[in-house]
Amino acid sequence: MNASKKCPHCGQWSAWNQSPHDRCEHCQGILAPDALARQQAQSLRKQEEKERFTVDFIQINPEDPWYTKFFKRIGLGFQLTFVGVVSFLLWLIAVLAG
Ligand SMILES: [Zn+2]
Repeated sequence: MNASKKCPHCGQWSAWNQSPHDRCEHCQGILAPDALARQQAQSLRKQEEKERFTVDFIQINPEDPWYTKFFKRIGLGFQLTFVGVVSFLLWLIAVLAG
């Protein structure tokens, strides 16, 4: 996919692979600064989402008494359900948005 794009810096036409990182043949300026900024914002947002949905799972120790294990397992079950639902929603949003 080869295309050309008018450089926003020097106004000359330059070969462009439609990548936000492509630079102008003439002045080495970024050909698509908007796309680059958008891409960076997007990856930043993805990073934030990943951090937000990181759940610290309850650790069950073999030395715990049975009732502690019992309640920890229930808590862990809720955590797994929550993560499953959130992952499903994120997937759904991605599918609907795509
Ligand atoms: Zn240029």
